[in-house]
Amino acid sequence: MSVRGTYSFTDGECEVSGMRVGRVDAGINTTFIVYRVGDTVIDCGPPNQWNEVQPFIEREPVRQLLITHHHEDHSGNASRIAALTGVTPLAPELAKAKLASGFKVPPLQRFIWGSPIPVQTDSYPSDIALADGSPVIPVHVPGHAKDLTVFFLPKQKWLFSGDLYLSKSLKMFRNDENLSELIDSIHRVLALDFEVLFCPHRGIVENGKAAMEEKLQNLVWLCSESQRLERKGLSLSAITRKVLGREEMISWLTGYNISRRNLIREALKVKL
Ligand SMILES: [Zn+2]
Repeated sequence: MSVRGTYSFTDGECEVSGMRVGRVDAGINTTFIVYRVGDTVIDCGPPNQWNEVQPFIEREPVRQLLITHHHEDHSGNASRIAALTGVTPLAPELAKAKLASGFKVPPLQRFIWGSPIPVQTDSYPSDIALADGSPVIPVHVPGHAKDLTVFFLPKQKWLFSGDLYLSKSLKMFRNDENLSELIDSIHRVLALDFEVLFCPHRGIVENGKAAMEEKLQNLVWLCSESQRLERKGLSLSAITRKVLGREEMISWLTGYNISRRNLIREALKVKL
């Protein structure tokens, strides 16, 4: 049994439902929430959780599947949902080739999520809407991944944030994440009029805009403190220990692909 929880949220007119799945229940970063708003599904869940995701998809008809970025926990079941429902998944242009060919997933992530199954996708059309006609606006927010796109629903003041949010205070980075781009992307999103944020890992954050602002402030502090310590002559590992503490087990298990030092290395590059 690997359904880890169900979610629902409504503004009185429009309802979001979500289902958290995951092979390993070791915190929010090893589980994933698939969200849907009526016949619109946002992200697909990890490929090794299809048995749990399938009934959630079959619950009612699906008209469109929106993918935020290529990472396997978000895109992993796209080909199965396409086969089940007949819809062609909509994904960022930058993700298209990777999704079509499949891509290599490091061993630990493969254990947690499974391997992605190649899938053909279409680019986002210019007029995505919910069943009631209200708009869904894709906003490109690189940083966590080059292709990451979030979905802004201006009528409901909702933001489906992909992996843009995750936490108010990040502690680790993958080695391919770009902090300068992430900070620019958060600024871009904060210019939007949203209130509730739907994060596939953290869950539903009702005071989403304030939480995103707090994340930005924490990142800016992290950059300035890391750069201050660098000016005092401290090494990367010394700064990492002082600002974020010791590396965790996951850093060892991933060969530092996911680690605190990746975040500090990026923090030292950000122009304040
Ligand atoms: Zn991701």
